[in-house]
Amino acid sequence: MDKLRPVIGITPSFEPHGSNSDPNRLHGIHRLDDNYARAVRLSGGLPLILPTTREIQVVTDYLQAVDGLIFSGGGDVNPILYGEDPIPQLQTVDPSRDEFELGLCKEALNHNIPILAICRGVQLLNVAAGGKLVQDISHCVPKALQHRQQAPIWHGSHVIEITPDSLLAQLMKTTQAQVNSSHHQAVGDVAPGFRVTARTSDGVIEAIESLHHDFVIGVQFHPEGMYESYDYAAALFLGFVEACQTVKKLRVEG
Ligand code: MN
Repeated sequence: MDKLRPVIGITPSFEPHGSNSDPNRLHGIHRLDDNYARAVRLSGGLPLILPTTREIQVVTDYLQAVDGLIFSGGGDVNPILYGEDPIPQLQTVDPSRDEFELGLCKEALNHNIPILAICRGVQLLNVAAGGKLVQDISHCVPKALQHRQQAPIWHGSHVIEITPDSLLAQLMKTTQAQVNSSHHQAVGDVAPGFRVTARTSDGVIEAIESLHHDFVIGVQFHPEGMYESYDYAAALFLGFVEACQTVKKLRVEG
């Protein structure tokens, strides 16, 4: 195996066991759709699932072990974390995952580690960097499109317009793309230091990227689910893994 294959850490969902479990001890099940690991492998990276933890030292060690990070999809980010009370349409929140991923994401941003944040991931990224979310698109966005598609994940159900001079447009080699959609929340107030790089026709934010990092991209769609059905989805993953490979080379030669 190529020793230069970059290691891509992927955060899973965490489902806590029981309602009365000890809050100081994590007890539950991790879940991750294999499409994430598969897309990393197909793009030349080595996927590594990072179990949720409360230990700060483990978060530091994770960042030493990886050349890039994928924040995966899942439940809602707790609105308390961006200064809002929950509206009735808020869905499942997992405080353990929120705490772990926020810590990991902030440290990764501090160290300029490449990030590809997907679905819940882009929402988490935006909150970690100081932004806010739309708690429920149907409730909060007038004349919203259907963002929770009733079609297989490999099908692109709505069109996004991509900002021409963005890293996203450069990687996907297009300024318009048909993408899948499986979310009820979205990025609201964009975090300082970030810009919007894609939207649907209803104005919903479908991608953001950092103005100050080499490779920090968040997308609301699931490129890992369209890897084989749309070339630009694979191209996004290939570009991400390539950026991680550059980081790895610098470390090895460093
Ligand atoms: Mn959408």
